[in-house]
Amino acid sequence: MDQDIVSTPAGLRIIPLGGLGEIGLNMALFEYGDDIIVVDFGLMFPEPHMLGIDLVIPDIAYLRERAEKVRGIFLTHGHEDHIGALPFVLQELSPPLYGTALTLGFVREKLKEFDLDGLVDLEVVKPREKVAAGCFEVEFIRVSHSIVDGCALAIRTPEGVVIHTGDFKIDHTPVDG
Ligand SMILES: [Zn+2]
Repeated sequence: MDQDIVSTPAGLRIIPLGGLGEIGLNMALFEYGDDIIVVDFGLMFPEPHMLGIDLVIPDIAYLRERAEKVRGIFLTHGHEDHIGALPFVLQELSPPLYGTALTLGFVREKLKEFDLDGLVDLEVVKPREKVAAGCFEVEFIRVSHSIVDGCALAIRTPEGVVIHTGDFKIDHTPVDG
């Protein structure tokens, strides 16, 4: 292998595999050196021209080639466009899943449906809690959304902090304060 490539500093790579400029397929990778974390694993419901297609899921070829680097999948909230593709990918990769109680409740039911329960480690995280995953540290931050128990993520990396907002809504009259 070329010596120059090996000695190049790793740098932080943020790789969206879906969810930009489209509705659904939300999924992003954060890669630094030998560590990758994944944020969300959503599906997209087919558009009218996708005749005969039931569901659209992200292309995970990049992840598949680097499966041994994946330290965890972090879920911002329980909407289908953020968790819906999980059963399809967990048949190939099964890193621990992190999310709030309600989000993982939806995931648990989904895994049962696909006979995948017990195969994956589901770790319930409370807002303000921090999770170490490889060189990353991920803090869950409460946000308002049209589904409860949604979070943004503060992702601490060797290059600095990245805020991943998930989906959120500015609520001017929050019933819970
Ligand atoms: Zn949402």
